[in-house]
Amino acid sequence: MKKTLFLIPVFVLAMLSLALTSFQSTQTELAANGQEKTDQPIDVPKNIILFIGDGMGFAQVQAAIAASDRALNFGRFPVTGMIQTKSSDNVITDSGAGGTALATGKKTNNGMIGMGPDSLEVKSMLNIFSSLGKATGVVTTCALTHATPAAFLAHDISRRNTQAIAADIADSPVDVLIGGGMADFAVREDGRNLPEEMKVKGWEVMTCLMEAEQKTPRFVVFTSDEHPVAANKGREDELQRSVAIAINALKNDPDGFFLMVEGSQIDWAGHNNDSAYLLAEMLDFDRTLGVALDFAAADGNTLIVVTADHETGGLTLPHDPKDIKNQTRLAFSTGDHTASMVPVFAFGPSSSHFTGIYDNTEIFRRILFSTNIAR
Ligand SMILES: [Zn+2]
Repeated sequence: MKKTLFLIPVFVLAMLSLALTSFQSTQTELAANGQEKTDQPIDVPKNIILFIGDGMGFAQVQAAIAASDRALNFGRFPVTGMIQTKSSDNVITDSGAGGTALATGKKTNNGMIGMGPDSLEVKSMLNIFSSLGKATGVVTTCALTHATPAAFLAHDISRRNTQAIAADIADSPVDVLIGGGMADFAVREDGRNLPEEMKVKGWEVMTCLMEAEQKTPRFVVFTSDEHPVAANKGREDELQRSVAIAINALKNDPDGFFLMVEGSQIDWAGHNNDSAYLLAEMLDFDRTLGVALDFAAADGNTLIVVTADHETGGLTLPHDPKDIKNQTRLAFSTGDHTASMVPVFAFGPSSSHFTGIYDNTEIFRRILFSTNIAR
C-alpha cells in the first residue's frame, strides 16, 4: 500500500517531464519556423537561377503536363506560388514592364525597359548581384536585345530601341551571354562595332555554341543574327546546352552566381495561337528546368525560381488531354497577353519564401531577401 502511494507521484512526475520535453521541442520548432518567415533567412543560397517563361500561365504548364508521356520537371519543385502581373499603366502588362518588375522590383509603363514611369533608371538584380561579386549570366531563346533580357541588362524608354539596348548590354557588367540578336550589335546605324568593343572589354565573342563549351567568363555566344528558330522548327537542344554551358562557366566563382534564363517563344506561340509551337516550347523549357534542377540538387546551395512575366493567349483546356497530345486542340481566347495570374515554382535554400499570392515586384524583393541583401 505504501509502495503504491509512493509510486503515484513518481509516475505523475515522469509524465510531467515527458510533457515538458515535448512542449520544449515544439517551441524550438516554432521558433525556427517563425525565424525563417520573419527574420533573416536561415538558408542563404550562394547561387540563384531565375527562369522566366515568357507568356507562361498556369494552363500552359497544365497543357505541357497533359501532352507529355514523361513526368515533367515542373513536378520537382517543392514550393509553388502565384503572382499578379499588372504594369503601372495597364492591367495587362507587356514584356518590357513585366520583365522590369521582375528584374528591378519596380513597376513601369508598358514598353519601358529598366526604368520607372518617371524614366529614371533602376538597377536590376543582375546589377546588384554583380556589384556584390557574383558572376552573372543571361541565356535566352530570342535576341538578347528583346524585352525580357533587356530588362536585366539595359535601360530605355522603349523596348523598340534595340540598337541602344545592345549598346547598354555591351556596357553592362554581365559575364556570360547566350542568345540571338547579333545584328543589333554588329550592323548598326551609328557605325559602332559592338562585338569588337566587347572583345576589348574582355569578352570572348563566339557564334557557335559548341565553341563555348569549357570556356571561362567573360564570353558572349550569338546563337543567331536575330531570333533563334522555334523549338519545333529545328532549335533542338540549344537551350539545354546553353544553360549547361552557362552554369559550368559561372559555378566556379567563389562568391556564387546569378543566372537568368528566358523561354522566350512560349509567348510567341501564344500570340500565334499555335498549339504545336506552344507545347514544343513548354517541353523544351521543362527539359531546361531539368538541367538546372540536376545541378541544384547536386550542389545543394542553389535557389531556383521559375515564373513568367504574363500569360499569353488566354489559354484554356476545354478538350480531352488525348486531343492535346495530338497538338491540335488547345483553346485560345485572344492573340494577346492577358491579366491572368502566373505561377511561381521554387527549389533549394530559401525556396519557402516564394509561396503565396503576391505581386510580380515581390520576385525581386524575395530573391534579394533570400540572399540576405537588405532592401
Ligand atoms: Zn508577348
